[in-house]
Amino acid sequence: MLMALCVCGSKKDYSVCCKPFLTGKAKARTVRQLVRSRYAAYAIGGHAEYLLQTWHPSTAGNIKRAQLNTSEFRWDSLQILGYQQKGNLGQVEFIARYKDAEGEDHIHHEISLFQRLKGVWYYLNGQLDNQR
Ligand SMILES: [Zn+2]
Repeated sequence: MLMALCVCGSKKDYSVCCKPFLTGKAKARTVRQLVRSRYAAYAIGGHAEYLLQTWHPSTAGNIKRAQLNTSEFRWDSLQILGYQQKGNLGQVEFIARYKDAEGEDHIHHEISLFQRLKGVWYYLNGQLDNQR
């Protein structure tokens, strides 16, 4: 089988990194895994289902499937700056770099909040910091 590094930047092979999450074979056990796999879902594209499944029910209401499947951006890299996990709450600060349709570079700097319900982690919401 061909080795392919996962797009999430873990330096692990995709098949043992984010693929089991994106294909529903495993659930993320940590908030870092969830951030990585959700980034991979955006970067690879066509994984709206996974993004919706991992969105907290209380904040997923306005999310449109079609929005999640667009490949308007080209995601270049993910960098996790910090993370905390306390009981069923988690927080991850990360920077994702991407190019827009015109090839301009952008930085998406977010502090994401997560909640674990019945043993499964969900993305609750995020606070953007794009001023840097
Ligand atoms: Zn990965």
